[in-house]
Parts: sequence; structure tokens; C-alpha cells
Amino acid sequence: MRGGVAELQARSGRAPRLMVLEAGGDDAGAAYRQALRAAARVGVEVEVRRLPPDDAASALEAVRDAGQDPAVDAMVVIAPLPRGWDEGAFALAVNPDKDVDGVHPLNAGLGAAARRCLQPSTPAAAIRLLEAHGVELAGSRAVVVGRSAVVGRPLARMLLDRDATVTVCHSRTRDLGAETRRAELLLVAAGRPGLIVPDMVRPGATVVDIGTNVDAAGNLVGDVAPGVGAVAGALTPVPGGVGPVTTAILMEHVWEAALWHLRS
Ligand code: NAP
Repeated sequence: MRGGVAELQARSGRAPRLMVLEAGGDDAGAAYRQALRAAARVGVEVEVRRLPPDDAASALEAVRDAGQDPAVDAMVVIAPLPRGWDEGAFALAVNPDKDVDGVHPLNAGLGAAARRCLQPSTPAAAIRLLEAHGVELAGSRAVVVGRSAVVGRPLARMLLDRDATVTVCHSRTRDLGAETRRAELLLVAAGRPGLIVPDMVRPGATVVDIGTNVDAAGNLVGDVAPGVGAVAGALTPVPGGVGPVTTAILMEHVWEAALWHLRS
């Protein structure tokens, strides 16, 4: 990717530029610290803009302004937003051409229609990991735990686009273990540490742990309990696994958005 960034720099006279807009506390921004380090390594410029945490209207205006700024190629609004803010309004305020985490309804709709668009980077990372390891998706029985707009839903749709047979589970699923035990491919994005225990996993299944939680001791842990590794055929680690790949995909999306702006 560094080569692509250099080519872009030569043609446009500047580095691709990502604007990160955040209104939450330190925890919300922590997820992007890794992205900032990766950006520096691949020559992407990042500006972090603090949104006023007590003024949703001004924050929304700042997001719209960033979307119109010709010097900004790519933008991300960090979730979660402060309590009471309308996440849908913020997703709409992102410029869809700069929406490198695929949150704008236009990108979500294009994705749902299996059309080319900027995709949410976390589910794209889960798919990239599986494909890079040669895991067969077509025809496989896949179970996704979690149905959020940024992870679970787009992930289910990406699996469906690759001909997996997909079941989506959520907090109202009646017998989660009965569903997950059927999975040849189990992808978990619930934000509940230790939710998936060994007897919920089919022996030999491929398990992708997308959960990113901080435990009482301050350690980063996934949604999958430690003993699952002994039952699964393959298990992505936390930390490691999906997180760093998400960062790499986000950088790819910045690069794509910058190139698109150069050509249009
Ligand atoms: P979210 O918006 O809170 O959604 C969580 C989903 O899990 C919801 O659909 C919820 O069901 C479901 N769920 C919660 N408890 C459950 C239970 N006991 N049984 C079954 N389903 C349950 O979270 P998110 O933004 O999708 O993130 C999910 C996890 O992925 C978090 O740990 C987050 O930190 C992590 N994440 C990781 C990355 C990365 O790069 N690795 C990026 C983004 C997010 P309902 O819909 O019924 O409430």
C-alpha cells in the first residue's frame, strides 16, 4: 500500500488525508490509536478533531464541514457518540465519498444491494482474514453473533454475498448455544467478554472473535472464552486477529477514497 500512497502523493502533490472526528472520552479514541500509528507507517496524514461533547448541533455541523473540505479525502466519526446524540444523523452527515468506515446509508444501501461501495472496515477485516487463510465460505454454515449496523449486519451480508448460508443471532436469540453449535464458521461481535464458551462451539469450527472488551484488570479480551481454542479448528486471537486487519483495511479505504477524489 505504501507504493500506492507514494504514487498518489506524486500525482496529487500531497499525502492522502484522513480526518478522525471524536466526541467520546479516551476509551472511544483508544480504538483509533492503532490506526494513527498505522497511518504514519503508510504515509497517510491524520487529523484528529475533537467534537464539542456537550453540543450535538455544533458537532454535526463540524462533521458536515469536514465532508465538504477538499483537503480531506476520508473521514471517520468515532463511536460511541455521547449519550442522547442521534447516531443516524451523524452517519448521514458524513460525506459518502469519504466514508471510509461505510456508515453512510448510501454506502450501507449499496452494500446491501451487493454493489461496489466503501464497506465497514471491521466486517471487511473478518472476511479478509478468512479468505487469506483459505477458509471456504461458499456453501458453509455461518453463524454471526451480533446485528449492529457497523459489524454484525454488514458481516452477515458479506458472507451471504460469498454464498455462505448465514444465521444472525442477537440478544433475543432463544438458545444461542444451539445456533452456534451448528456453525462451521462462527463470527462473534457482541461486546460480551466470554460469551462463547467451549460447549457452544462445534468441534473443528473456524471461530472469528471480533469482540474488543477491556476486562477488570485492564486487559483487552474478546467475546470468546479461553477454552474455545481447544475445541475450534481455528480461532482468531484478541488482541491481534481482527483488530490489526481492521486498521489495515481502513488505510486501504483511505487510499481508495483519495484516489477516487484525484480521478473525479
Ligand atoms: P453493539 O452495537 O453493542 O452490538 C452488539 C450486538 O451483540 C447486538 O446486536 C446485540 O444484540 C448482540 N448481543 C449483545 N449481547 C448478546 C448476547 N448475550 N447474546 C447474543 N447477542 C448479544 O456492538 P458493535 O459495535 O457491533 O461491536 C461488537 C463488538 O465488536 C464490541 O466488542 C466492539 O468493541 C467490537 N468491535 C471490534 C472492532 C475491531 O476492529 N476488532 C471494531 C468494531 C467493533 P441486540 O441487537 O439484540 O441488542
